[in-house]
Amino acid sequence: MIPTAARLGLLVCHSCSLVNRATERDDLACARCGAALHKRKPDSLLLSWILLAMAMALYVPANVLPVIESGSLFGSQRDTILSGAKFLWDSGDWLIAVIIFVASIVLPAVKIAGLGLLLATSQRRSTWRPRLRARIYRVMEAIGRWSMVDIFVAAILVALVQFRTVAQVQVGPGAIAFAAVVIFTMFAAWAFDPRLIWDPVDGFDE
Ligand SMILES: [Zn+2]
Repeated sequence: MIPTAARLGLLVCHSCSLVNRATERDDLACARCGAALHKRKPDSLLLSWILLAMAMALYVPANVLPVIESGSLFGSQRDTILSGAKFLWDSGDWLIAVIIFVASIVLPAVKIAGLGLLLATSQRRSTWRPRLRARIYRVMEAIGRWSMVDIFVAAILVALVQFRTVAQVQVGPGAIAFAAVVIFTMFAAWAFDPRLIWDPVDGFDE
């Protein structure tokens, strides 16, 4: 049997990292800072599923609705992320078009698929390739830290598309949906407790 903190009756405080001894009581508080102690994040899977479901639901409007609405003397123009990327591609800005396509369409889809895989396998207490799944989790976390890049990219898109119009440019509802997708996937990854990957492997049952 692999000695884990939970099996040894030890709980690490998430706030101050003090190692506490578990007792019979459930409502444990850290002996040093008073923060609540848990063997695993409470309701990790449920919370993570809810956040992921919201991200999935908003992924569609984020790509279908316009992110930019611009008006000029020659009429109004509404661009989705994809049409904006295509405009940049057609006007020769291939690198920026590819960056926007990858950061705004591919990465969120990869994040949603990766998190869905982690949640589904942990839910079923799967013992399938835990090292691979642990690596997927680390990649998800790393992408989460870069997620603000997505929004930054969307801002660049707004600035660039402005060049083709004379009059006002407005952020469309797709941009709000897009920002929400980024935020929900980030929180879904944060809510997931990666130790759930190893519990079925160790035979640990809370
Ligand atoms: Zn503490």
